[in-house]
Amino acid sequence: MPLPVHQHVMGAATETGGGKVYLDMPVNYLKGVGPVRAESLRRLGIVTTRDLLFHIPHRYEDASTITPIASLEPGMDGTIIGKVISKGIIPTRRGLRIFQAVLQDGSGMIEASWPGQPFLDRSIEKGDIMLLSGSVRFFHGRQLQPREHIQLGKDEDDIREGKVLAVYPATEGLSFKVIRGIIDSHLDTLLPLLKEYLPADVLRAAGLPSLRDAIRMVHRPATIAEGTRGRARLAFEELLFIHILHRRANALKRERRSGIAFQNRRQLTSALKDALPFTLTNAQMVAIREIVADMTSDRRMHRLLQGDVGSGKTIVALFAALLAMENGYQSAIMAPTELLAEQHARTFAKFLAPLGLEPLLVTGSLSSRARREAANKLAGTEPVLAVGTHALVQEGALFGRLGFVTIDEQHRFGVEQRAAISAKGASPDVLLMSATPIPRSLALTIYGDLDVSTLDERPAGRQPVTTVMRPESARERVLQFVVRETEKGRQAYVVYPVIEESEKTDLKAATTMYEQLSAGVFAGKVVALIHGRIPADERETIMRAFRDGKIDVLVSTTVIEVGIDVPNATVMLVEHPERFGLSQLHQLRGRVGRGAEASYCILLGNVGDEAAERLRVFVETDDGFEIARADLRLRGMGNLFGQEQSGEATFRIADPVRDEVLNIEARTAAEKLLEEDPTLSTKENAGIRKVLGARYSRALELFRVG
Ligand code: ADP
Ligand code: MG
Repeated sequence: MPLPVHQHVMGAATETGGGKVYLDMPVNYLKGVGPVRAESLRRLGIVTTRDLLFHIPHRYEDASTITPIASLEPGMDGTIIGKVISKGIIPTRRGLRIFQAVLQDGSGMIEASWPGQPFLDRSIEKGDIMLLSGSVRFFHGRQLQPREHIQLGKDEDDIREGKVLAVYPATEGLSFKVIRGIIDSHLDTLLPLLKEYLPADVLRAAGLPSLRDAIRMVHRPATIAEGTRGRARLAFEELLFIHILHRRANALKRERRSGIAFQNRRQLTSALKDALPFTLTNAQMVAIREIVADMTSDRRMHRLLQGDVGSGKTIVALFAALLAMENGYQSAIMAPTELLAEQHARTFAKFLAPLGLEPLLVTGSLSSRARREAANKLAGTEPVLAVGTHALVQEGALFGRLGFVTIDEQHRFGVEQRAAISAKGASPDVLLMSATPIPRSLALTIYGDLDVSTLDERPAGRQPVTTVMRPESARERVLQFVVRETEKGRQAYVVYPVIEESEKTDLKAATTMYEQLSAGVFAGKVVALIHGRIPADERETIMRAFRDGKIDVLVSTTVIEVGIDVPNATVMLVEHPERFGLSQLHQLRGRVGRGAEASYCILLGNVGDEAAERLRVFVETDDGFEIARADLRLRGMGNLFGQEQSGEATFRIADPVRDEVLNIEARTAAEKLLEEDPTLSTKENAGIRKVLGARYSRALELFRVG
């Protein structure tokens, strides 16, 4: 779920016929929004009425941007508005089904064609007015191949009357028209509740409208230029906030944080290097060098190690842990799930055995005796490598001499948990690890107070994973392929977006598909089901059986997304791929291709145009950086890390690349603001401070607001 970015900032309310309306009111209390629509809105990141105001059109159309149908020529790209005068599904000889419609405007008509999307026949009706964008080709006459289509309703005269059409991002089950209707009918009530939080001179310097004006302009622009101007103000404030956070983080970083100055004794670390069954990649060596430099300085390390799935982050962390231990300190590695913690413990046990060391596993499911023993070791002063879950920071867990902490899949933890483990011991050095690599400049913007090391190289000998997208019509063939892989002794994952079916959506669900598949195409194979509602210990048993090759096909939700390593698994089949973020899919794909055999990632199902375009990026590249960048571009920061986002800085409206000029202005404004008021504690800046605290949990750490 994308995070609700706009929360509890100033709580005025106005009366309407239906009762009190306030900005932080959940949208389901609004007239015209029931629980079903509220759920769809939530998928768009809209939880409160404030979020609704900030859900702005992604583009505008007016008479000048619409091409009369008569003037479309083959080879041209255009946007048209027309009425559907006929429609139908056309089968082709190769089994592909094409949805076609003929659209008409005052100037003429044209055929539009959607290959492989026969399901559109259910939602597009004769008489509908539609907006289509796409390219025109010659095929028995002119034919439009829509990239995007929007149903405007039955009688859309806006554009003909010279008005501007605002096009909103929509989602499955919630059309553009409904969204526009909801926003439009509440705009007048909500606008007066908005209070400006940017200082007047900042707005004046940037030449931008006030908040209230901007929100009105984006939703009800008189001209396209006005809509763009309103948007500019909202993009500007996002950029401004990010620059403020960034500069503040940097200022804090420059303040000297004292830490432990370890000595590079090269005892355990050299022994580990000698015992490794492989040689480190260049990127790993550089990262280790950067970490050693941090740890041997008397400044406290606060570093992010980012690298694609399989880039070998764990071993880098192990070197750091050993450096602390050979200095007589304790080290801890915290992972988001028990499975992952146990896997790390096993990996470490293997690498450390030649050194005569053994990791100490600390999870919530230890027996009470084991837990007591672990607690005693942690409270002692002997060097120990503790590997665990958040059980490491839960009350009672005391460290006698903690010198180094690493947090794996750091974005899965909340700010508080990260802070809690860092606060253990006498200011241990901290290494955060992330498998969702983002461009360096962005990393520095978001994590301004962190130093960043990047593993941009994969260990040699890794097989690329063949990735394909297959339509519903290929289901049987795809499943037969999976069967053949299992018959070769390989294993497969089949992933679904939800655990159970619900009345609200027609999504295939892990539970029902598990029953269907195990009785059907996989009959005779060992099929197991795993998801987040199965108790942790049972999940562990299932995963262990899968790891040991006792299960052929594992049907699951994204619980397997995180770091699990099963080299014999060669197929990752994902249903409803449009429901996942690209980075999330990339994590899933990272579960296969870990052994010597050729591996496959198959996205199965019919998806809409927009989703298909997004998924194409994933199919075409195996580079996690590029995928993260595409995710950022297409869905914004809020979606980058999947559902368990922890309030990092987000862009919903601005695009630092496209809005380059605004970005420079915002940076200048942030500089000036913080020069005059470094902690934002003056009265004029109280508004900014409040909004920052509400929107970005990082602000809690950086400005101590909240
Ligand atoms: P991730 O960065 O996704 O956490 P891991 O640390 O789990 O990756 O490493 C993935 C696999 O690659 C592990 O089996 C690990 O032992 C192996 N590995 C790590 N570094 C190297 C290397 N330099 N050469 C070969 N294999 C490596
Ligand atoms: Mg990992």
